[in-house]
Amino acid sequence: MKTETNVQVSVENDENSMDEQHAILKEESLDPADWDTFRTLGHRMVDDMIDYLRSVRDRPVWQPIPEEVSASFREPLPRSPESIDRVYEDFRRRILPYPTGNIHPRFWGWVMGNGTATAMMAEMLAAGINLNQGGGAQAGGLVERQVIDWCKEMLGFPREASGILVSGGSMANLTGLAVARNSLAGFNIRREGLCGGQMLRIYGSTEVHSSVTKAAELLGLGQKGLCLIPVREDFTIDVSALRHAIREDQASGVRPLCVVGCAGTVNTGAIDPLEALADICQEEKVWFHVDGAFGALAYLAPELRPLLTGMERADSIAFDMHKWMYLPYEVGCTLVRDPEAHRLAFTLTPEYLEHTTRGIPGSDLWFSDYGVQLSRGFRALKVWMSLKEHGIDAFGRLVRQNVEQARYLEKLVNEHEELELIVPASLNIVCFRYRGSLTDPVALDALNKELLLRLHESGVAAPSYTVVHGKYALRTCITNHRSRREDFELFIEAVLRVGREITGSLDADSSATDAHR
Ligand SMILES: *Cc1c(COP(=O)(O)O)cnc(C)c1O
Repeated sequence: MKTETNVQVSVENDENSMDEQHAILKEESLDPADWDTFRTLGHRMVDDMIDYLRSVRDRPVWQPIPEEVSASFREPLPRSPESIDRVYEDFRRRILPYPTGNIHPRFWGWVMGNGTATAMMAEMLAAGINLNQGGGAQAGGLVERQVIDWCKEMLGFPREASGILVSGGSMANLTGLAVARNSLAGFNIRREGLCGGQMLRIYGSTEVHSSVTKAAELLGLGQKGLCLIPVREDFTIDVSALRHAIREDQASGVRPLCVVGCAGTVNTGAIDPLEALADICQEEKVWFHVDGAFGALAYLAPELRPLLTGMERADSIAFDMHKWMYLPYEVGCTLVRDPEAHRLAFTLTPEYLEHTTRGIPGSDLWFSDYGVQLSRGFRALKVWMSLKEHGIDAFGRLVRQNVEQARYLEKLVNEHEELELIVPASLNIVCFRYRGSLTDPVALDALNKELLLRLHESGVAAPSYTVVHGKYALRTCITNHRSRREDFELFIEAVLRVGREITGSLDADSSATDAHR
């Protein structure tokens, strides 16, 4: 009895102290104070962004950020609240006008996608539902599994393979190469680490993307663990040099781990002879990874598919959907032929993550067992909605449209004596330069560097640049669903105009110098 009284007393005490706390602390949350006002602003944001997308063609591709705008991003940490209307106004004024420009129909720099209206809304829906895609009994896992199944089918990969959505091509390469390393190192590398093991090596051409180098570094193989094989005239890997390098390593006690085949190099869009690479990997029992960041998507166009023969034999494929599938950042994918090898490379289940058969952890879909991240966002939603809305064939037609536009641009370049095609377009990349009547290589490089920057600053078009065959080139990579033929005509007109302007001013400069003498 005595105990009961005690309990009662202590409960009363607790209630008292809770009341006191209530008096002092008003509980709060981050939800809007007035949902109706918030709804009005939310609708305005949606309207604004739809207008923004719809009118993209009327704006410059890009514009420099004014000094006062850059300087304005040095505000002190906000301590007191500001109305969301004002914060949004700030976004409209200081952020919205100054993006990279890649949503514009005349942006063809690096390898960038444009995004779509539907995927923009999908991003909002995904953020609203805010589920954690690491795993568990939630619909997001089912959506991602569905998307991965579609990815396998659309790229001709076996149904039994596994896969995971990641942030992009870099992470997709790292993920695929991590599975390669953990599967073929020849010892339990997850337990032992690299210490004491045989030296491991990855092979790829000198045109391999920098993310492969980063992956080799992060996986502990180092840059020495990545053997760069020379390319042929068309920038594809020299297969006999590769065979030779593998044999030589084997003879000297290095363990050949993986060959990275490029399905679309970043410089010129070259596609390695994937069938030959698959044969070598099979013979030498080496992992075959394909970096198909953008090029793998050429598979979607039946006419282009033969270029990628052999890709379906890869042990892992890395590709991006924020490039040549035009979805907004970020989304890439790794597919792995052997699902068990994929799982064993990453699975790690401590007590606090034990899977069950019921309740929220009651699911066999744990993407955290197949990649680096534990908590994961719902990037699968925008892919799922986009594929359903447009159908995969629309993406195939757009890929082909871009390749045809590259051919068209090449034709326009060849029609002008003042322009020089640096390398024939193999896929969707055209590298050329303005030469006017110049012949000096140093002057030509300087001219084209200046031309590129003036072009960007004019806001008319945005190619990027590279050096091919020792020549500085304007590099036009077409992964843009908004481009039209007229856009390439406008681009060429601008290149000619700016090129003449610069060479004109060069002439004026040199005559000015002459006059001084
Ligand atoms: C862009 C690219 C990558 C890296 O992909 P991100 O999505 O930028 O991380 C890797 N390989 C190639 C060939 C690429 O073009």
